[in-house]
Amino acid sequence: MSNFVFLGPPGAGKGTQAERLILAHGLLHISTGDLLRSAIREETPLGKEAKAAVDAGLLVPDELVIGLVEERLTARKENQGFILDGFPRTLEQAKVLDAMLAKMGSPLDHVILFDISAALLEQQIEARARQSDEAGLQVRSDDNPAVLKRRIGEYARATAALSPYYEEKGLLRNVDASADIEQVTLQIGALVTR
Ligand code: AMP
Repeated sequence: MSNFVFLGPPGAGKGTQAERLILAHGLLHISTGDLLRSAIREETPLGKEAKAAVDAGLLVPDELVIGLVEERLTARKENQGFILDGFPRTLEQAKVLDAMLAKMGSPLDHVILFDISAALLEQQIEARARQSDEAGLQVRSDDNPAVLKRRIGEYARATAALSPYYEEKGLLRNVDASADIEQVTLQIGALVTR
């Protein structure tokens, strides 16, 4: 089974592609953003600690997200592949992840970099907010223009640190995220091994 990291700015389609890969290949989806949002909703101690940073579009402390990821990875089914979505975001997280996965005997196979232009990104984010609104769903508290700008800036910083790290390990795969959803699914699906 394949183990993935998805690297991409908010709105690049990581969630959509993760959903498809899970359905097709039974992978476990670990989205640190989703886990943090649910901890905040449930007002757990971790959620309370993370809320201010998430609402402001800033990174929460490494140890909080690392703990969440370790818990999920440890609880997965034997030999189940996984997609880490939104993690790692710092070099420190990437290094801790490597050590954790080495101990579990499940190293990463692919780090997918979702390449997308800033203009298209803006359109996709607007569309996401509109769809949520039309469906009567609550628009994410961090999906407003000022915070989004900050989240995209944070992403650019993370990518600048992480892509050379994974490139050097021979794990980085660039995917054209401005292509059609089906095309992107095909590109990523071709990487999965059974
Ligand atoms: P996302 O849904 O991945 O865009 O994440 C939403 C927010 O959760 C981010 O803006 C951060 O505040 C926080 N977050 C998610 N993943 C991480 C991470 N790996 N490290 C630090 N903060 C994170």
